[in-house]
Amino acid sequence: MHEFSAACSIVETVVEAARSHDVKRVKAVNIEVGEFTFLLPEQLRFNFEIASQKTIAEGAELNIRMVKGRLICRDCGHEGEAQSPDEALGPAAMFAPMKCTKCGSSATTITGGKEFLIADIEAEVAAPVEKQRPKPKPH
Ligand SMILES: [Zn+2]
Repeated sequence: MHEFSAACSIVETVVEAARSHDVKRVKAVNIEVGEFTFLLPEQLRFNFEIASQKTIAEGAELNIRMVKGRLICRDCGHEGEAQSPDEALGPAAMFAPMKCTKCGSSATTITGGKEFLIADIEAEVAAPVEKQRPKPKPH
Protein backbone atom coordinates (compact mmCIF):
# COMPACT_ATOMS: atom_id res chain seq x y z
CA MET A 1 0.00 0.00 0.00
CA HIS A 2 2.48 2.57 -1.31
CA GLU A 3 -0.13 5.31 -1.67
CA PHE A 4 -1.68 4.69 1.73
CA SER A 5 1.52 5.29 3.68
CA ALA A 6 2.18 8.37 1.53
CA ALA A 7 -1.35 9.63 2.24
CA CYS A 8 -0.86 9.03 5.96
CA SER A 9 2.31 11.08 6.03
CA ILE A 10 0.50 13.96 4.28
CA VAL A 11 -2.31 13.83 6.84
CA GLU A 12 0.21 13.74 9.69
CA THR A 13 2.02 16.81 8.38
CA VAL A 14 -1.24 18.69 7.76
CA VAL A 15 -2.60 17.87 11.21
CA GLU A 16 0.62 19.02 12.84
CA ALA A 17 0.71 22.26 10.83
CA ALA A 18 -2.96 22.86 11.58
CA ARG A 19 -2.37 22.43 15.29
CA SER A 20 0.43 24.99 15.41
CA HIS A 21 -1.50 27.53 13.33
CA ASP A 22 -4.90 27.44 15.04
CA VAL A 23 -6.58 26.08 11.95
CA LYS A 24 -10.34 25.63 12.00
CA ARG A 25 -10.72 23.81 8.73
CA VAL A 26 -8.33 22.63 6.04
CA LYS A 27 -9.67 23.54 2.62
CA ALA A 28 -7.01 22.17 0.33
CA VAL A 29 -3.61 20.58 0.36
CA ASN A 30 -1.33 21.17 -2.61
CA ILE A 31 1.39 18.62 -3.07
CA GLU A 32 4.18 17.97 -5.54
CA VAL A 33 4.81 14.41 -6.57
CA GLY A 34 7.78 13.33 -8.63
CA GLU A 35 7.37 10.83 -11.43
CA PHE A 36 9.90 8.49 -9.84
CA THR A 37 7.84 8.10 -6.68
CA PHE A 38 5.47 5.99 -8.78
CA LEU A 39 2.55 7.27 -6.80
CA LEU A 40 -0.72 7.22 -8.68
CA PRO A 41 -2.62 10.50 -8.23
CA GLU A 42 -6.07 8.92 -8.16
CA GLN A 43 -4.92 6.32 -5.62
CA LEU A 44 -3.30 9.03 -3.57
CA ARG A 45 -6.50 11.08 -3.53
CA PHE A 46 -8.58 8.06 -2.57
CA ASN A 47 -6.21 7.07 0.23
CA PHE A 48 -5.99 10.65 1.46
CA GLU A 49 -9.77 10.65 1.89
CA ILE A 50 -9.54 7.53 4.04
CA ALA A 51 -6.49 8.63 6.02
CA SER A 52 -7.91 12.08 6.76
CA GLN A 53 -11.18 10.80 8.21
CA LYS A 54 -11.85 12.09 11.73
CA THR A 55 -8.93 14.52 11.45
CA ILE A 56 -8.90 18.25 10.76
CA ALA A 57 -7.91 17.43 7.18
CA GLU A 58 -11.15 15.59 6.53
CA GLY A 59 -12.91 16.89 3.43
CA ALA A 60 -9.88 18.82 2.25
CA GLU A 61 -9.15 18.78 -1.43
CA LEU A 62 -5.88 17.16 -2.44
CA ASN A 63 -4.32 18.93 -5.41
CA ILE A 64 -1.49 16.99 -6.96
CA ARG A 65 1.13 18.51 -9.24
CA MET A 66 3.18 15.88 -11.01
CA VAL A 67 6.88 16.65 -11.47
CA LYS A 68 8.64 15.11 -14.45
CA GLY A 69 11.60 12.89 -13.82
CA ARG A 70 15.05 14.14 -14.83
CA LEU A 71 18.22 12.25 -15.58
CA ILE A 72 21.84 13.03 -16.13
CA CYS A 73 23.91 10.65 -18.28
CA ARG A 74 27.33 9.71 -16.98
CA ASP A 75 28.43 8.65 -20.47
CA CYS A 76 27.54 11.64 -22.64
CA GLY A 77 26.71 14.21 -19.99
CA HIS A 78 23.25 14.86 -21.39
CA GLU A 79 20.72 16.04 -18.87
CA GLY A 80 17.04 16.11 -19.55
CA GLU A 81 13.57 14.85 -18.84
CA ALA A 82 13.36 11.13 -18.39
CA GLN A 83 11.24 9.10 -20.69
CA SER A 84 8.11 7.97 -18.93
CA PRO A 85 8.63 4.50 -17.56
CA ASP A 86 6.83 1.70 -19.29
CA GLU A 87 3.27 1.72 -17.94
CA ALA A 88 3.03 -2.05 -18.26
CA LEU A 89 6.02 -2.42 -15.96
CA GLY A 90 4.28 -0.46 -13.23
CA PRO A 91 6.14 -0.18 -9.92
CA ALA A 92 8.77 -2.64 -11.22
CA ALA A 93 10.02 0.20 -13.42
CA MET A 94 11.33 1.75 -10.23
CA PHE A 95 14.13 -0.79 -10.23
CA ALA A 96 14.83 -0.77 -13.94
CA PRO A 97 17.71 1.50 -15.01
CA MET A 98 16.50 4.60 -16.81
CA LYS A 99 18.07 5.06 -20.19
CA CYS A 100 19.62 8.25 -21.51
CA THR A 101 17.29 9.75 -24.12
CA LYS A 102 20.26 10.87 -26.19
CA CYS A 103 22.72 7.95 -26.31
CA GLY A 104 20.68 5.15 -24.75
CA SER A 105 23.20 4.47 -22.00
CA SER A 106 21.94 3.04 -18.73
CA ALA A 107 24.66 4.84 -16.78
CA THR A 108 22.25 7.50 -15.64
CA THR A 109 21.67 9.28 -12.37
CA ILE A 110 18.24 10.53 -11.39
CA THR A 111 18.43 14.27 -10.72
CA GLY A 112 14.74 15.01 -10.36
CA GLY A 113 11.34 13.43 -10.00
CA LYS A 114 11.70 11.92 -6.55
CA GLU A 115 10.03 14.78 -4.78
CA PHE A 116 7.12 14.17 -2.50
CA LEU A 117 6.30 17.31 -0.61
CA ILE A 118 3.54 19.56 0.55
CA ALA A 119 3.79 22.81 -1.37
CA ASP A 120 0.96 24.63 0.27
CA ILE A 121 -1.91 24.17 2.68
CA GLU A 122 -5.05 26.26 2.29
CA ALA A 123 -6.90 26.60 5.54
CA GLU A 124 -9.34 28.65 7.54
CA VAL A 125 -7.79 29.89 10.75
CA ALA A 126 -9.79 30.28 13.94
CA ALA A 127 -8.66 33.85 14.52
CA PRO A 128 -6.71 36.01 12.10
CA VAL A 129 -3.21 36.85 13.28
CA GLU A 130 -3.95 40.59 13.05
CA LYS A 131 -6.64 40.33 15.70
CA GLN A 132 -4.40 38.45 18.07
CA ARG A 133 -1.75 41.14 17.93
CA PRO A 134 -3.41 44.56 17.98
CA LYS A 135 -1.20 47.46 17.01
CA PRO A 136 -0.10 49.53 19.99
CA LYS A 137 -1.90 52.87 20.13
CA PRO A 138 0.29 55.81 19.18
CA HIS A 139 0.97 58.17 22.04
ZN1 LIG B 1 23.84 9.68 -22.78
